[in-house]
Amino acid sequence: MSIYEFYTIFGQIVFIAGIFILSLLSVALILGRILIKQERLIFPKLLLFTIDVFYGLFKKFAGNVGLDEKIVDQMGVEVRNKVNEKAFNDVDNKDKILVLPHCLRSPRCEAKLDSTGLHCTDCNRCVIGVLKNKAENEGYDVFIIPGSTFLKKIAQNHEFKGVLGVACHQDLNLAMMNLSHVPCQGVPLLKDGCVCTKVDIRAVLDKIGIETPQNMVLPNKSASCVVERPKRKIL
Ligand code: SF4
Repeated sequence: MSIYEFYTIFGQIVFIAGIFILSLLSVALILGRILIKQERLIFPKLLLFTIDVFYGLFKKFAGNVGLDEKIVDQMGVEVRNKVNEKAFNDVDNKDKILVLPHCLRSPRCEAKLDSTGLHCTDCNRCVIGVLKNKAENEGYDVFIIPGSTFLKKIAQNHEFKGVLGVACHQDLNLAMMNLSHVPCQGVPLLKDGCVCTKVDIRAVLDKIGIETPQNMVLPNKSASCVVERPKRKIL
């Protein structure tokens, strides 16, 4: 085979691979939008494969077609939530952990942070104390962490069979990707950032397994940054 023939065949292979990947990303994007808008899960393995293998490229592709790159993480979280839901619910609560981000805490939080995370004293200034108490009463171990490094340490030093996490879409998707050997459920933050973030408390309690009837009064979703009323229990 001459050099010319080699490069011709090589170019054709690259061209076909490019068309294949573009088609795969397009199909996955359509399936992901159907999942987000209509809550219909179609070809979940194809979606997960595309998100996991082409993560960076998929985000760029979404951006290039005029979408927010965050949609890829949103799709990742939604598809993993649906795929893992039954397995997660089958795990005993005593074998589950709840991982909360420390950015949910009140700016006036006085809890100590060490290598295992934040030690919430349930001062009633923010939603973390509420969620921690509720989850622990159900049997969960609770960790309040500043970042993914802490999650790696938790995975190394603790035994668990199910994980419920709260984080921004990207951190949540990547954490669920890394913990794919364990049934995971995730609740994305309503407002992300480094401080004063927000979470849908009802969604977290629902995943924990605590029913919250619609008429039940829940703390303000932005409870971590509202004016505090320390003497009144917020849930
Ligand atoms: S309830 Fe919130 S503000 Fe109070 S100690 Fe726990 S994390 Fe900190």
